[in-house]
Amino acid sequence: MKDCCEIPIAIESKPPSRTFYRVLWAALVINFIMFLVEMTFSLKGKSLSLTADAVDFLGDSINYASSLVVFNSSLQTRAKLSMSKALVMLIYALTVFVLAAFRFVSGELPSVETMSIVGFAALCANVTVALMLYKFREGDSNMQSVWICTRNDVLGNLAVLAASAGVYFTNTHYPDLAVAVFLAAIGIQGSVKILRLSMAEMRMK
Ligand SMILES: [Zn+2]
Repeated sequence: MKDCCEIPIAIESKPPSRTFYRVLWAALVINFIMFLVEMTFSLKGKSLSLTADAVDFLGDSINYASSLVVFNSSLQTRAKLSMSKALVMLIYALTVFVLAAFRFVSGELPSVETMSIVGFAALCANVTVALMLYKFREGDSNMQSVWICTRNDVLGNLAVLAASAGVYFTNTHYPDLAVAVFLAAIGIQGSVKILRLSMAEMRMK
């Protein structure tokens, strides 16, 4: 739930090579599956921090999908695309905030087991995708972006794991809510940044 992973490659004018095309597809599939997995288990395990963490997989899926289709398209089209993505992320993050308020009053204890297993799976997925992208990277500029993006994603996953430890030791749902609000806040900050940027790009002709 950040403005990370904005990069993936084909933002240049030429389509990605075949190998890289496959890597982008794999990254898209892994991210989207993990979004569904994290979302499903966040509801089952009643963990809002997992819900908040899941949005990053959604955002990254949109990024990979767009890097597969937007090469050769105009700056305006790309700006519109990232604007819609930012709006989706913003609404999602605001929803997490509202849910956190409700659960603060009448929350149930989330499943520590679900949080730690799914949080760890999410971490593995992010590291796998990063290694894939790193191995088949195209262009030097991407190296750094892949690294920054992964670092942020992994920090989010670690925050969920920390929340599960917090729930375990305090036997309350508050650590889960705290991490959810923290991730949502980062998400709001990120999407506002992308919104501003894309609006500026829209104005450029
Ligand atoms: Zn990400």
